[in-house]
Amino acid sequence: MPPAIECYDAGQILTPGAGYLGDYDYSLNPYVGCAFGCSYCYAAFFATPERQASWGDWVRVKRNAALKLSRLRRSLAGKTIYMSSATDPYQPIERRLELTRSLLPILAEKGARLVVQTRSPLVVRDIDLLQRFDRVCVNLSVTTDSEAVRRAFEPRNPPIADRLRAASTVAAAGIPVAITMTPLLPVEDPAELARLVGRTGASRFVVESFSPTAGRFRGGTGEPARELARRMHWDGAAYERTRQALIRELGPNVREGEAGFSPGYLLSSPAPP
Ligand code: SF4
Repeated sequence: MPPAIECYDAGQILTPGAGYLGDYDYSLNPYVGCAFGCSYCYAAFFATPERQASWGDWVRVKRNAALKLSRLRRSLAGKTIYMSSATDPYQPIERRLELTRSLLPILAEKGARLVVQTRSPLVVRDIDLLQRFDRVCVNLSVTTDSEAVRRAFEPRNPPIADRLRAASTVAAAGIPVAITMTPLLPVEDPAELARLVGRTGASRFVVESFSPTAGRFRGGTGEPARELARRMHWDGAAYERTRQALIRELGPNVREGEAGFSPGYLLSSPAPP
């Protein structure tokens, strides 16, 4: 069922970087809520209890986002912006609304440095606008090599192969790409995952362990998915074996956790060795 859509005027469009994203000047969320509805989503935690329970079934649209951004008085030249920290800017409704797309020329014009975080192949639609930035990186989220795992943890998400193809298309267009395996869900074949992400042409790789229990700043996940993780013997040791396989295939250019999300890493030019 499509999510319930609500449009509203946001008070602000840029949020000062904080916590995990403290090295960014701002985060930018064109939407509140996310129709991808990942079972482990930490962003759900910030919603009201009622909205947490229906996470994925509703999306709020900041219909004044472009106006707010274009009227911004402060300079964005050289400022680092992370889009998005609590939603996916290319979730399905974006195809019709083109809200994220409307923000890109404004950000590029103002000289911002942009990291786009998404798991949606729709991002390839905006390659023409992303090419206008002096510094930009598209983070494609690839969380496993297994469609069974993807369906258990992220049933509303695009298939893994589509995300890998999108990463290749963006990289081939000359736009730096990072593959974010965050969280890394249970993996069937670590060496194969490393080969798959390496073949995309991405120049940066970020990995982070998956927490199967709910916590204050980390999402939990449903029992069927936890059962699958148990069946696949996915634990700290399995995560570490996979991380090592990634490093063997991709070299030292694999960062873990917060270090991988820093603007110094994602927006460095040229790409880190
Ligand atoms: S795509 Fe990101 S923001 Fe959306 S539900 Fe999944 S983890 Fe949360």
